[in-house]
Amino acid sequence: MATLLPIPRLRAVRRFAAALALAPALAFGQADLDAELAATREIVRFVPDDAAARLGRLEARARAAPLATRAEFLWLYSSAIRRSGDPKRALAMGDELVAWGREARDDATYAKGQLARAYALYELNDLAGSHKANFEAERAANLTADLPLRVQATISAGQSFQEQGNYPAALGKLQAAIDLARKVADDDAPLAGALNALTFLYTDMKQYDKGWEVQRESLEVAKRMRSPGRLAIALGTEYGLAIESGQYERARRALQEGLAVERRLGARQMIADTLVNLSDSYLKERDYARTADAARQALAAGVDINSPSVIATARVNLGQAYLGMGRVAEGKRQFEAGLDGFEKNGDKPELQAVLIEYGAALERAGDYHGAISAYHRERSISDEMFAEQRQKAVLELQQKYDTEKKARQIEALRQENRVKGAELDNRRLQQRIWWLLALVFALAAVVVGLLYRKVRQANAQLEVKNQELKQQSSLDPLTSLYNRRHFQDFMRTHAQVERRHHGGAAGDELVGALFLLDVDHFKHINDTHGHAAGDAVLKTIAANLRETLRETDMIVRWGGEEFLAFLPAVPRDGLDDVARRILRGISSQAIAYGEKTLRINVSVGFAPYPLAPGGTPLSWERAVNLVDMALYMAKSHGRNRAYGLHGFHDLERTTLEAIEQDLEGAWRNGFVDLAVVAGDVLPVDGVERQDVPA
Ligand code: GH3
Ligand code: MG
Ligand code: MG
Repeated sequence: MATLLPIPRLRAVRRFAAALALAPALAFGQADLDAELAATREIVRFVPDDAAARLGRLEARARAAPLATRAEFLWLYSSAIRRSGDPKRALAMGDELVAWGREARDDATYAKGQLARAYALYELNDLAGSHKANFEAERAANLTADLPLRVQATISAGQSFQEQGNYPAALGKLQAAIDLARKVADDDAPLAGALNALTFLYTDMKQYDKGWEVQRESLEVAKRMRSPGRLAIALGTEYGLAIESGQYERARRALQEGLAVERRLGARQMIADTLVNLSDSYLKERDYARTADAARQALAAGVDINSPSVIATARVNLGQAYLGMGRVAEGKRQFEAGLDGFEKNGDKPELQAVLIEYGAALERAGDYHGAISAYHRERSISDEMFAEQRQKAVLELQQKYDTEKKARQIEALRQENRVKGAELDNRRLQQRIWWLLALVFALAAVVVGLLYRKVRQANAQLEVKNQELKQQSSLDPLTSLYNRRHFQDFMRTHAQVERRHHGGAAGDELVGALFLLDVDHFKHINDTHGHAAGDAVLKTIAANLRETLRETDMIVRWGGEEFLAFLPAVPRDGLDDVARRILRGISSQAIAYGEKTLRINVSVGFAPYPLAPGGTPLSWERAVNLVDMALYMAKSHGRNRAYGLHGFHDLERTTLEAIEQDLEGAWRNGFVDLAVVAGDVLPVDGVERQDVPA
């Protein structure tokens, strides 16, 4: 248990290292103020109380001075205040310096501010904050040409790495600091500071040989400087190195040499620390009487400088000594008082370390009950620390989680917004498309409507035109009667109907009938009166036929001066009468042409339609052919008469073809019945009456 090195001792050593870094930059001294600051600079390290008092008196003037002076003042003041035991106030001064540096964009002021903050935060056990400020100070200092400041900032950065356990980085920084310090021509202080820090680092790294090597130069420089303060600091560091490397004698010698120097200087803080260390060194060798003696002196020094940490450490050491001497009750009282001090400081790691020492000491003293109690207290502190750390970690995690959660929520909201925005856009687009479609449909409907109307109009016009054309194509231009083609079309489409309607054979039944007319001696009219007269005759015949026949009868100009009449419904025994009416109507008509009056006859062939010899209806063409043959007979038997087919007989004795070839022959042989209707004998422009039968 004796090898355990309590934390307070390490901290004391470190404090020396930091103190040394505050190198004096002597004799700028143009102005009184600068001179006074320079003088104070030297005593800040060793008698901070006095320095603080002196600086306090300068404050009003210093704060009115230009930035460089003003910053130097606050920098020293912060250092003095911190060493006098008020790190919080020192920190506030560091903050003020940083603000000045920022405001004036002055890197040196800013770097000093960050260093002041780093040292104060270290005292306040905020190691992370201290490291951060140190690194920031180094960055800013390296932007300046102030070599001593850069050396100090580099040392401080190296110490931060050292505290983080990053020895390679720490070594790099401190060696760089030494190189930089060797460039400072007229001042050994920066070099002394850097060497001291390196010795301390090697001690920490347990590389004692290297440590002693550096320590040798460190002592040389301190002596060369003829500065008792420097020497005291170097001796303090040597003590640490010696005790760590197990050279207790040498350690104590260093302490006693240092103590002498410090007493000459009146450096009360240093004396108090050295006395604590001295009691530690005796304790290591179980020299309890001397431990107690040194501890009592340390306690008095601690009370003198009003340092709770020195008082607490001194009491613990005193307690250790009493316990070692077997004065258990006194020992426990001092130990408990020391523990109270650490507890009040709230320095749990120190408290824990001291409790371990306490337990070990009680065990050695045979107070096992007390040892167990100390052990339990240590465990509970350890648990508390663990719980605090865990709480801190949980809080950090919670914070991190909350931040991430918030970020996720924000992202989710954003996403939702994006989706909603997209939906809205989509809906708007859809709406637009529907409107467009509706518009297109409306326009299309209008266009289609217009087109439809146009088409209907065109169709109607077309219908009219078609009707006209059809009429034109089915009418004979001269007589306005139907032409032959119209009749043919009509028969093609109506033949079936006609047959169905009028099939059968009763006396007064209605039948269809065909009448074919040919103007007698028409050539003669043309020849005698001219072609136009012939035309006039043809027109008159047409008009006459229209009058003679019914509206429903179809009258056709069959050829040049031939006419065909199709009567759809005539009493079967009324056909002869119709023939007679036709003959009479035409022959009785006086046709006025110019100054002349023309008269003409026609010959007629006729038959009922349909014709069905032997029950089988003939085609209309064959029927017309038979009627034509009857007409021929009318011509050949004198003209101005009508020959009508009434029926067929004995068809088994002949053929229909034979009848069609020779109607006259068939008539004579009794195969057909023919009616002969004679026309009236009237004077005509045709020919002599020879045609007219008697
Ligand atoms: P037939 O008693 O034997 O019938 O004697 P026809 O003089 O009437 O003889 P045919 O029937 O052979 O003669 C018809 C004439 O009618 C021939 C032609 O010059 C004449 N013709 C035919 N079409 C027209 C017409 O549109 N106008 C005029 N003016 N004459 C026509
Ligand atoms: Mg003719
Ligand atoms: Mg004729």
